[in-house]
Amino acid sequence: MNENFSEIEVENIITTHKYVDGGWCWTKYNAGPYRGCSYDCAYCYNISANDGSEVAIKKDAQSKFSVELDSLEKDVITIGDYQPIEVDLEEIRAMLEIAEKKDFPIHINEKSPLVVRDLDIIKKISDNSWAAVSMSITNSTKHPKTGDDLKLFEKDTPTAGERFQAMREIANKGILTGTCCVPLIPYIGDDHENIEDMIEETKEAGGSYFILGSLVIPEPFDMLFWDVAERSFPEKLESLRELFDPANTEKFRSYFGELDRVTSELCAKYGLLDHIPRPVDHYSESLKDNKRLAETFFLKARFAKAENVSMEKEFSYMALGWLLEDIPFSIVDSYNASGKKALLELGLDDDFAAETEQEIEKLKS
Ligand code: SF4
Repeated sequence: MNENFSEIEVENIITTHKYVDGGWCWTKYNAGPYRGCSYDCAYCYNISANDGSEVAIKKDAQSKFSVELDSLEKDVITIGDYQPIEVDLEEIRAMLEIAEKKDFPIHINEKSPLVVRDLDIIKKISDNSWAAVSMSITNSTKHPKTGDDLKLFEKDTPTAGERFQAMREIANKGILTGTCCVPLIPYIGDDHENIEDMIEETKEAGGSYFILGSLVIPEPFDMLFWDVAERSFPEKLESLRELFDPANTEKFRSYFGELDRVTSELCAKYGLLDHIPRPVDHYSESLKDNKRLAETFFLKARFAKAENVSMEKEFSYMALGWLLEDIPFSIVDSYNASGKKALLELGLDDDFAAETEQEIEKLKS
């Protein structure tokens, strides 16, 4: 036990979400041995809501993790938040070893290059189950001024160059990796050249995907963000406040819709995916097609802004994804037996039943 860090008692170490985070990292569970984060990002919900940059170690993290995993259905678990103290404590490493032994697929989303220390274990998980390591990067090394500006929101984090180097090492091991450009900070990190150069650097580093996500910080957890914005970017304040005005969601939707469109086009140009492909091998044979169908509708929801699809339809796509996640029998088998009637019996209206029918036909072809 390091005397500079406190230990805290926690009831559970794994957080279970009702559904996977459809369209993003396909994560059903989250677990990490630390509370708080030394990187102290101004936009971080955890930092604002919990203990700030003071890092505490969760007591008995490894044994709790092992026991809790035994009672869970196999699905993707995000493990991580490497802290500098992890160099000595190796708590995350131990958790990865447990996940590997119990054959759970994992996702890691990191700013810290320390993740490369554990590539031997991650490689085993990748080979035997599924692993994706997303490097959280929001500027290209070719845009140092943008990097300096963004650094004001995450002052203690490794540089973009260090994160791309980590990606190179991950890709060299044959592990699925890419960039998670989240959160994109409007008017400060949104230059299209910066986005294109990040995508190009991701490709050069051996990444397979580039995902872009908007900054979302609900009140009252947004104080640190607005502090930095007021102090360092007074000229952008009015535009930022207008964009995040809850009474003006259309502005937000069209701003990020345009960025999503640009990102998808640039990903296509450089041969990258604009999303992480969903792993389905850990599901039972009868449910794999349901999960693939759910993936399709989650992605339709995620790119709804880019496609100028209404907010109402975006939510309906999401709800359809959730519905498909919950169905305990093969939808394709039911459809094969009863046709569209089987889809209407799930409670879908005629339009959504027709769209689902088309997607099932695509799956079958
Ligand atoms: S690195 Fe992640 S967890 Fe840590 S402060 Fe930044 S956003 Fe929060």
